Amino acid sequence: MGHFQKSFHFGYTSDGLSIPAYKFGDKGPEILILAGVHGDEIEGIQAANGLLQKFSQSFPYKLNLTLVPIFNLDGALRSQRKNAREIDLNRNLPTQDWSPEVAKVKYNPGPHANSEPENNALVEHIKNKPPKFIITLHSWKPMLNINGDCHAVANVIASHTGYIITEDIGYPTPGSLGTYCGLERQIPTITYEFERLLAPEKILKTHVPAIIEGLKVLEA
Ligand SMILES: [Zn+2]
Repeated sequence: MGHFQKSFHFGYTSDGLSIPAYKFGDKGPEILILAGVHGDEIEGIQAANGLLQKFSQSFPYKLNLTLVPIFNLDGALRSQRKNAREIDLNRNLPTQDWSPEVAKVKYNPGPHANSEPENNALVEHIKNKPPKFIITLHSWKPMLNINGDCHAVANVIASHTGYIITEDIGYPTPGSLGTYCGLERQIPTITYEFERLLAPEKILKTHVPAIIEGLKVLEA
C-alpha cells in the first residue's frame, strides 16, 4: 500500500525553531504541500493537519509527498501574518520581479530577496527535490489561484468545493511562491485560499477530501 512516512527537519525559523515536515510515499512524482506561510491563516493549517492525520493512517498513493503544515511557525505562535522579523514570507522569495518596495506594511518583502531562514529552507528544498506540483494553503477569499498548468488538479478540487479558479487575484505578488515556482520554474502551483473563519468541520469534511482527490490526478 506504499504506507511509508517519516518526519524531518525542514529548516529553521528566524527565532531558531525547527520547522517540522512530513514525507509520505516512496514512488511517483514529488509533490509539496505548504501551509501556514501566513501565521494568522489558521484555516490552511487546519487543512494541513487534517491531511497529516489522514496520510498518517494510510497513504496508498503513488506520490512522493512532502507536507509542511506550519511553515511560518514563529508567525503562527504569534497569530500574525509575518514572521518573527515582521517580514511577509510570501513576498520575500527570490523572484525576478522581487522589489524592496513595501507596498503595504503587511507585505513587507524584507531587506533583500530570500533574506529569511524559512525561505532559505524552502528554496533549498525546491532546488534539491524539485516538485512536480505545489499546493500552498492560505485563507482570504474562497478561490484557487493558479500559476502554471494546474487545470487538471484545480478542476477536481473546484468540482468538490465550488471554489472558483483564477490566474489573477487582482494585484501583483512579487516574491510569492506562485510567481517563484508557477511562473518562473514551470512548477504548477495552486495557492488555495480558504474563506476566512471557515468552520473546521467543513475544512475536514469537504476540503481535505477534495485536496486528496486532486492529488490523485498526479499519481504515477
Ligand atoms: Zn496568505
